[in-house]
Amino acid sequence: MTVTDNLQIIGAKLKHFAEKYQRAASDIQLLAVSKRHPVTAIREAYAAGQTAFGENYAQELLEKAEQLDDLPIEWHFIGPLQSNKSRKIAAVASWVHSIDRIKIARRLNHQRAANLPRLNVCIQVNISQEASKSGILPAELFDFAEQLAQLPRLKLRGLMVIPAAETEFDKQRAVFAETAALLRQLNHKGFQLDTLSMGMSSDMEAAIAEGATIVRIGTAIFGQRKS
Ligand SMILES: *Cc1c(COP(=O)(O)O)cnc(C)c1O
Repeated sequence: MTVTDNLQIIGAKLKHFAEKYQRAASDIQLLAVSKRHPVTAIREAYAAGQTAFGENYAQELLEKAEQLDDLPIEWHFIGPLQSNKSRKIAAVASWVHSIDRIKIARRLNHQRAANLPRLNVCIQVNISQEASKSGILPAELFDFAEQLAQLPRLKLRGLMVIPAAETEFDKQRAVFAETAALLRQLNHKGFQLDTLSMGMSSDMEAAIAEGATIVRIGTAIFGQRKS
């Protein structure tokens, strides 16, 4: 199977799940997660119509963006961000999904150039409350969102989650439902958030069932990553 074949299959699945759960397919963006795959694979995906790509290592995103600067790719950063990489990410990315430290958010806000649109950001929520995982705990979410909303060069769009590994559909769905409920709570308190970045290759259906607006798909498009 080629990347082009895989994209067609994923696109069809996305449409099928949207219909199954009575959603508009156009409300669900496919983010192609290209980490640890070569730029040739990204070029193939782009030629097949895919324009948004996600990377979770800053250095890798920056190198690929440079090698692909002939293409108008929309870059999404989805991994942990260190201070020393924030300036370049603020210059290259359209989205950062993984905001969980106010210090990094303030740097991005300060570094985002005035001639660029505001940087779209999501708060990463540690929804499964795992000690080892990144993300804001649900109990701290409202205060954190209020702090982010003060930053004029960032546009707070919503929430991103990477749940604990789970193969059972109903359990996958329950965690995404909790995430959707957190977004609704924030909106009841006056936020206007429209983004739920949730769902990967193994739990895309559950995420769409619960309202995902961006699904982040790597393996099902590009195949297994080399370790
Ligand atoms: C790697 C990665 C993905 C894609 O995972 P697949 O299981 O390969 O689809 C999605 N989100 C994040 C944050 C990732 O790091």
